[in-house]
Amino acid sequence: MKHTGTLVAVAALFAGTGAIAQNEFITIGTGGQTGVYYVVGQSICRLVNRGTEEHGLQCTAPSTGGSVANINAIKSGDQTMGVAQSDQQYYGYNGEASFEEPYEALRAVFSVHPEPFTVVARADAGIETFDDLEGKRVNIGNPGSGQRATMDVVMEAAGWTTDQFSLASELQATEQAQALCDNNIDAFVYQVGHPNGSIQEAFSSCDAVFVDVTGDYIDQLIADNAFYAEATIPASLYEGVEDDTTTFGVRATFVSSADVAEDTVYEVVKAVFDNFDRFKRLHPAFGNLEQEQMIQAGLSAPLHPGAERYYQEQGWMDGGS
Ligand code: GLU
Repeated sequence: MKHTGTLVAVAALFAGTGAIAQNEFITIGTGGQTGVYYVVGQSICRLVNRGTEEHGLQCTAPSTGGSVANINAIKSGDQTMGVAQSDQQYYGYNGEASFEEPYEALRAVFSVHPEPFTVVARADAGIETFDDLEGKRVNIGNPGSGQRATMDVVMEAAGWTTDQFSLASELQATEQAQALCDNNIDAFVYQVGHPNGSIQEAFSSCDAVFVDVTGDYIDQLIADNAFYAEATIPASLYEGVEDDTTTFGVRATFVSSADVAEDTVYEVVKAVFDNFDRFKRLHPAFGNLEQEQMIQAGLSAPLHPGAERYYQEQGWMDGGS
């Protein structure tokens, strides 16, 4: 009954329009405001909220700390759904890496854009390869973010600790481009779809370069984990970048909980895929999305039954037994 006051207000708002008054509030966890998760959440909510009169869902998508924070907030019931990297979906479900125990009620809904593990350095910092980060001032990401969680995995694979850096800062994604250009750090890591506002800010405000992330320990991570794959950041996406960048990456995924009602997830999925062309136009990182891939790639937790119902109705998946 904790929303009673709001429900009365909403009922008053819709009085006389014939709309249903019994609204359900849903929250989608995103990331920093200059990243792509924020746009994913805002775009999904925009499509969901166009249908509030029919299905009664009212959606908001606040900015958050990122993947790990989102999975934890879904678990605690503070968020209904959220965006999370495919590696963190796996680690969250299985209780590995940044997650202390398995979260068995975590459910996959669909995957979204690819997210290369991205390292940006000051051009004057003398950083040409990932190993050159040693001894430098590096923003390793805020705790709760996906890039921080993956950076922890990479550091472990490389046999590094934060002592390897002269400074390991934990700035939020929204702060890192400015910190780089103010010469407070030499480089930052960000696992994110391209192009995006945060990286654009670094390239347009100071002399910055992408750094390749390659090496035996990266090859091993890719060989050992289905959710890691080689990735390229095409030079064409940002002005002033001359070469493609080689790294590895994951996919952004959309997740929820088995505790969230089937109808709720069904309506959210329907709002996205019934309006798929509109959704794809909302961010350049969504341009290449294809339904068939989105219902498979990067999903390691079981599919939420609300999502499964929609995919079966569309004939994209075999019907249940
Ligand atoms: N991949 C990042 C994370 O999991 C967020 C990237 C974004 O905001 O687009 O925290």
